[in-house]
Amino acid sequence: MTESTERYARLARLPGVGERGVERLSRARIVLVGCGTLGGAYAQHLVRMGVGTLVLVDRDVVEEANLGTQLLFDEDDVREMRPKAVAAARHLEMINSRVRLEARVADLSAGNAREILGGAHLVLDAADNFEVRFLLNDTALALGLPWIYTAVTGWAGLVMPVVPGRTACLRCLIPEPPEPGSLPTCETAGVWAPAAAAVASAGLTATLRLLLGEAAQPELHELDFQAGTWRKIAVNRRADCPACAGDLPFLEGRRGSQAVRLCGRDMVHLAPESPVRLDLPALADKLREAGTVRLTEYLLHFAAPAGEMYLFPDGRALLKGVTDPGRARALYHRFLSG
Ligand SMILES: [Zn+2]
Repeated sequence: MTESTERYARLARLPGVGERGVERLSRARIVLVGCGTLGGAYAQHLVRMGVGTLVLVDRDVVEEANLGTQLLFDEDDVREMRPKAVAAARHLEMINSRVRLEARVADLSAGNAREILGGAHLVLDAADNFEVRFLLNDTALALGLPWIYTAVTGWAGLVMPVVPGRTACLRCLIPEPPEPGSLPTCETAGVWAPAAAAVASAGLTATLRLLLGEAAQPELHELDFQAGTWRKIAVNRRADCPACAGDLPFLEGRRGSQAVRLCGRDMVHLAPESPVRLDLPALADKLREAGTVRLTEYLLHFAAPAGEMYLFPDGRALLKGVTDPGRARALYHRFLSG
């Protein structure tokens, strides 16, 4: 028995998996969108199971508020202000050095979705907002890429595999993104973090089945830990679904906003309207006159009486202590023109 077969023996022994399943996994390229509570559970298992390549996509920075629910991070990541994708890769490479890990400190947007998701065998949704999920749905349909819709809020979670052309897509299930504030979020309802592990388990089972070449079951799994129930709800493709018919406004950049309030925190994410490249060291010199500046390999952190922000080389910013996107945008422009 080689070291590799020994390492994955318990997976290989499962009925229906075998050496072939381990081999399929070892050749798979999987993109994980979001490295938070759900993403941490997904990533840990995939890396331990020996997935070939795992692309970690996240736009956020590790903060103390994340440590209560997010398995991949520790206090050192908070002190070092590491982007979540980078911190996740650092922890995961110590678990399994054979897995190829690609950290993408980025906001999945209409401008980069094809490039980031292209070439993947499957995409896992561990995002914290609907805007990204609708973009993911459009991109997956355009590329013919299977993806697993996953969400967790409060005590409950949802999982639905989407196989373009075969099963219902996200817009067959939810035709339009919900109005902000119309649904409970982890901000209003909290999150029972262990539910994320269970939801990720259901998502990983669907992932393995798809990689083994099995047909996806067109159903939504609803796990509710308060009620103690796991329901499976059949979801049919809708004849009038615009996305299934090829209308992909989220990928084409006709839908979606530039400012998003982040789930669970007083923080707003801003992305520039057109691509920019910021000279962070030069900006740091300029901002030092107005407040406290810290420059790392990945970002610039700036704190002043008016507010606090993380700034990335691609022009994105995370504004802290702000909940109103309009005020966040005003602060961003004030700091950058400062
Ligand atoms: Zn559809």
